[in-house]
Amino acid sequence: MADSSLPSPYATGLRGRCPRCGKGHLFQGFLTLRPRCEVCGLDYAFADSADGPAFFIMSIVGVLVVGLALWAEFAYEPPIWLHLVLWSFLAIALSLGLARPTKGVMVALQYFHKAEEGRFER
Ligand SMILES: [Zn+2]
Repeated sequence: MADSSLPSPYATGLRGRCPRCGKGHLFQGFLTLRPRCEVCGLDYAFADSADGPAFFIMSIVGVLVVGLALWAEFAYEPPIWLHLVLWSFLAIALSLGLARPTKGVMVALQYFHKAEEGRFER
């Protein structure tokens, strides 16, 4: 069961903070996790968001950018080079902007719900 004394995994994850104390930092560099929380000492070895953040970002950014491109085409019929420049830039910027908060939230949710790989008990 989730522990109700923990801070909200969304609040800590979006800010890139430790899921247990909400004060220490989760990341060193852009997307690399620290080995442990510098405030409460929580070991981040449990954290493995794998390709989860990439899946959500691809889905959200893909639908958004394709929708905007279609709308712009039907509303303004801009030249093809403008489509290429505009939507490439927007897709890259949104993906980079969402990468850290999305990974932070997924790691925090993993800690909050004590999620881990399935195991057979003996
Ligand atoms: Zn901490």
